[in-house]
Amino acid sequence: MTFKHKGLQALFGGTFDPIHYGHLRPVEALAKQVGLQKVILLPNHVPPHRPQPEASPSQRLEMVSLAIENNPLFTVDTRELERNSPSYTIETLTSLRQEMGPDQPLAFIIGQDSLLSIHTWYGWEQLLDKCHLLVCSRPGYAANFKESQMQEWLKKHKTDDAYKLSQSPNGYIFLGDTPLLDISATEIRKGLSSGSLCDEVIPTSVMTYIKQQHLYQN
Ligand code: ATP
Repeated sequence: MTFKHKGLQALFGGTFDPIHYGHLRPVEALAKQVGLQKVILLPNHVPPHRPQPEASPSQRLEMVSLAIENNPLFTVDTRELERNSPSYTIETLTSLRQEMGPDQPLAFIIGQDSLLSIHTWYGWEQLLDKCHLLVCSRPGYAANFKESQMQEWLKKHKTDDAYKLSQSPNGYIFLGDTPLLDISATEIRKGLSSGSLCDEVIPTSVMTYIKQQHLYQN
């Protein structure tokens, strides 16, 4: 029997401390551009590249679930949250690749800031052996790497042809033309602790939960 794949599958990893519209809106636009039916959000438990989250794993999962409850594009996968060790993307992708088989087109979504620091990720050289990378624009970040070696890497793998993403299992980088939203979880946490957060940056249900749980108050 020949293997039948399910069209391009996409994952979007993050700390989501908290999830905000800077995560959701660009990914929705990207999904339209490349024809994604589903995006699997992958909250990480112990992010390897940054300070530990303020909200607990279960609070971050609850916020993600509230943010996507009426949005059929998104689902959530808790495999990284359930691990008590650093969430290395390459390891997660390796286990997903084993489950999905070698022919399933698979993409990992990141923001432009993450692209520019991708060469600091553990096992980054193997990422494109497991998946494509789909990149959302993010205001305040350069369009390309400073390092010439990384510029070459980008040039070698970049495609503007979204069709190619569904025609091969891995190996391409696609830079999405997505809305520029100057929103970050760090600024949201600061805004909440100083009482100066503007409400439009996170879904109302998430904001209600943050208040109920007294999150990010100091
Ligand atoms: P923090 O400010 O705490 O670093 P964050 O807002 O960057 O958090 P993360 O959960 O670390 O959120 O991000 C998950 C992914 O979402 C990363 O790939 C990041 O590049 C991307 N991302 C976050 N905010 C934006 C945004 N405003 N526009 C585009 N991509 C974003």
